[in-house]
Amino acid sequence: MDMAENDTHHYDILVIGGGNAALAAALQAQESGAKVLIIERAPQFYRGGNSRHTRDFRIMHAYENDYMMGAYTEDEFMEDLRRVAGGEIDESLARLIITKSAELPEWLSNQGVRWQPPLSGTLHLARTNMFMLGGGRAMMNAYYRTASSKNIDIWYEALVEDLVIEGNEFTAAQVRKGNKQIIVRAKAVILASGGFEANIAWLKKYWGDAADNFVIRGTPYNQGNMIQTLLKYGAESIGEPDAFHAVAVDGRAPKFDGGIVTRLDSVPFGIVVNRGGKRFYDEGEDFWPKRYAIWGGLIARQPGQVAYSIIDSKALSKFMPSVFDPIVADSLSELADKLGLPPSQLQSTVQAFNHSIRQGTFDPSTLDDCYTEGITPPKSHWAVPIDEAPYYAYPLRAGITFTYLGVRINNKANIQFHNRQVCNMFAAGEMVAGNVLRRGYLAGFGLTMGAVLGRIAGEEAANVIK
Ligand SMILES: Cc1cc2nc3c(=O)[nH]c(=O)nc-3n(C[C@H](O)[C@H](O)[C@H](O)COP(=O)(O)OP(=O)(O)OC[C@H]3O[C@@H](n4cnc5c(N)ncnc54)[C@H](O)[C@@H]3O)c2cc1C
Repeated sequence: MDMAENDTHHYDILVIGGGNAALAAALQAQESGAKVLIIERAPQFYRGGNSRHTRDFRIMHAYENDYMMGAYTEDEFMEDLRRVAGGEIDESLARLIITKSAELPEWLSNQGVRWQPPLSGTLHLARTNMFMLGGGRAMMNAYYRTASSKNIDIWYEALVEDLVIEGNEFTAAQVRKGNKQIIVRAKAVILASGGFEANIAWLKKYWGDAADNFVIRGTPYNQGNMIQTLLKYGAESIGEPDAFHAVAVDGRAPKFDGGIVTRLDSVPFGIVVNRGGKRFYDEGEDFWPKRYAIWGGLIARQPGQVAYSIIDSKALSKFMPSVFDPIVADSLSELADKLGLPPSQLQSTVQAFNHSIRQGTFDPSTLDDCYTEGITPPKSHWAVPIDEAPYYAYPLRAGITFTYLGVRINNKANIQFHNRQVCNMFAAGEMVAGNVLRRGYLAGFGLTMGAVLGRIAGEEAANVIK
């Protein structure tokens, strides 16, 4: 790199990314008096990455408060994470995130974030999760306002393209801003630039052409180029390459940035069929908050990466309504016609399902005793006949939230390299998700992981430059 001196900027700590993990890191680093620069590739209006779409943090707490019902202990949180993580994770890092989550409500309040009691239709999270007033965008606005008031510099529409690591030390980043190339020299760097979920070409390496049919629920700016750069310089990779958090979204959702309102929660209240009109998974396996994040992957593996949630009029009011109207018909064959499904197959799937139901007491708040017998796949709970016209359907697609492949860190959020120890490079947020998530997900853990590790990274970066 041959750069004129006036294209070079000097800071104590450079933070790459502009979401929850980045802002937590920057604000924490600034508390020690460090001169901090945040580089966000999105324009100001779209700042905040996927964090802009969020609603709640998962928080360990000993007592009920105004915003969370009852207690949620370290052990229960850890057990919940273990159950859904889907494989081996770094348990000591996970426990650190959990214990330090208890500090977040106060610390975030000090950054200007405000809270609200849980809304209905929020996946039964009233005891375990704390909801931001105004959601992720209000949270990000508060973070940025506080950062500006503390003289943290922020560059928008600036893309970090490469890093300079000399020997065992990070020394600079190469940045493109419009058609200008800029060098930022810093004593330490914190990478918090998200996963690679918006990079369809990268997803195709593991999913083939199916990735063309995925919907990306969040920001188009998370292309993973910093993960690629770190791996190029010998950072240890972590996480399953094809693993991601993916939910069922309405098939009519936009390709990018549709956010929370395109998610569909109708699955446990009916059946889901593929484009052949056949069921393919237990729609009532467990409570929806524990299962919603696997449905994107299930749909991703169906022909055409499409599925259809089928319900009848009894079910319509039982879940948070979709932003799109359901497709409605007076008979199942008319519904099949409208969806382009084979009518006789849909009818026989529904008939077989209805006949297999062992009648119980329907109760969406418990793992009730309404289940099927003698069909594959079974429906383990909330199985009630689909028999009251009109019938409704929602087309479903795989909505990718974020990817898990990233870089390994230690308990100081310090990035681990194969061939050397680089003490002044840290990472937080989605790009380190694979350290504590293998395949599954726990609602609210993305933000918690990002804020806790961001704060640790900020503090440790400030320590190494002293
Ligand atoms: C619709 C939706 C709802 C969600 N709801 C919740 C929820 O309620 N609770 C929860 O815990 N999690 C939720 N999640 C997951 C959550 O959004 C993420 O886990 C979390 O926000 C990730 O934070 P982050 O800071 O790591 O990444 P992001 O917030 O995505 O930020 C990454 C940033 O890096 C920037 N960037 C990327 N590459 C570069 C580069 N080379 N140079 C400069 N900048 C770069 C991007 O522009 C972006 O601003 C939700 C996700 C979605 C999509």
